[in-house]
Amino acid sequence: MFYRWDDFKSKIKSLRSLKTRIFILVLLVGLIPSYCMQYGILQNYEDRAISVRTSEVQAQLKILANHLITYNYLQDTSSPVINAELEQLSNLYGGRVLIISGNLKVVKDTYGISEGKTIISEEVVKCFRGESMSNYDADLGYIEMTIPISEKAALPSAEAGTEEVKEVVRGVMLIGVSCDTIHKTMDILSNKANILLLIMLLIILGFALLLANFMVNPLNKVTLAINEVSEGFSDKAINVPDYAETVHIIDAFNKLLGRMKVLDDSRQEFVSNVSHELKTPITSMKVLADSLLAQGDVPVELYREFMEDIAKEIDRENKIITDLLSLVKMDKKVTDMNITEVSMNELTEVILKRLRPIARKRDIEVTFESIRPVKATVDEVKISLVISNLVENAVKYNKENGWVKVVLDADHQFFTLAVSDSGIGIPQEEIDHIYERFYRVDKSHSREIGGTGLGLAITRSAVLMHRGSIRVESTLGEGTTFMVKIPLTYKG
Ligand code: ADP
Repeated sequence: MFYRWDDFKSKIKSLRSLKTRIFILVLLVGLIPSYCMQYGILQNYEDRAISVRTSEVQAQLKILANHLITYNYLQDTSSPVINAELEQLSNLYGGRVLIISGNLKVVKDTYGISEGKTIISEEVVKCFRGESMSNYDADLGYIEMTIPISEKAALPSAEAGTEEVKEVVRGVMLIGVSCDTIHKTMDILSNKANILLLIMLLIILGFALLLANFMVNPLNKVTLAINEVSEGFSDKAINVPDYAETVHIIDAFNKLLGRMKVLDDSRQEFVSNVSHELKTPITSMKVLADSLLAQGDVPVELYREFMEDIAKEIDRENKIITDLLSLVKMDKKVTDMNITEVSMNELTEVILKRLRPIARKRDIEVTFESIRPVKATVDEVKISLVISNLVENAVKYNKENGWVKVVLDADHQFFTLAVSDSGIGIPQEEIDHIYERFYRVDKSHSREIGGTGLGLAITRSAVLMHRGSIRVESTLGEGTTFMVKIPLTYKG
């Protein structure tokens, strides 16, 4: 039972192959009409042969019927001429002839079995009324027919004293004609047709096989080409122009390949950037340490100064690693979101309180304008990163005595956070790149003030994870405004 089920399943599976389907389809399209044609031609031949035979025999019998009247055979069956004619007829058509007289008596049977018997059959009675019939019995293989034996006679008409000439049926001939010869011809024809069908089957089989292979070949080429690319990960675009469909598949695949290449390139660039960024503080530390070691008598003050520099580099390394970890967290799945209801006003206040001392060092005034109380369901840690990164940047890239303004507002769907500053601004051509990882407009200046180039990348990821948007407007030398828009309710 299990074997059979598995067998059936594997058969169904092979039916799913396009090649098998094309093969079966071509086979059916070729064979069904051939078989129908064979059947139709043979059937047509049989019908035609039977009708030719029937009319041939009928013509002969009509002549014979006239002879029967002429020789008065219904009364006297001794006529040797008629008997010879009857004999010849029954031999010629391999059949039996019965001659029935007016009182339904069989006066002559070429088989000599029924002579003298009375025959009461519907066909004979009908024939006496002038309705002759012919009937082909396909099972027994013979044609049965009745022919009236009639003569013209003057009969009294309806009008008194007059006579009219009418056909009067004196007897009936009942004949059974064998169709053996027709069947023999049919057998021969049918054998020949079967042989032809077999030859056609072989030709169609070969054709179906060739066509199925030919039609499926381009698809195999596509699979082969894709396999070659995936095995060797060659970035060469592939090309199978056989069908419009294969061109579409290949186009889609080449697009995917292009995207994978972009991802691979950006991954490689990221790794090399990370290595470079992590190496820079280490190199500085190594230079500082080496120069201390190279000198013999180093005053304690110099040691202190160098050690302070080394500590700064360690802090920097630490910040880069912390930022990288935040970025990796942002890249994780949406399920890592820790969504709670947060008062955005309070959260912003807390963050600004933490950042104000740093701003104060450069005499930068940080103000907060809360248009209305805003409660939103967000991931508090991630949104904190957004606010602190934007405000930190606004302070970092500001001028002495400058200002930073944070405005919080909301409508029924979103809350908006605008962080404006009176800082150095961003050149227009750089604006598209500032969200890229490790991208800094002025690399040396940014490093000097402790930038890692990851802050805005983290900010943007956090905003996108909340299905929000971030926009920037900036005028060089005058200041920058970042605008963040996030749905009040997190929708996953
Ligand atoms: P960084 O750690 O260097 O600040 P970010 O990703 O936070 O990196 O920012 C990328 C770059 O965008 C910065 O190096 C800086 O040149 C520019 N930038 C970001 N915010 C501001 C701003 N408020 N004013 C001027 N330039 C900015």
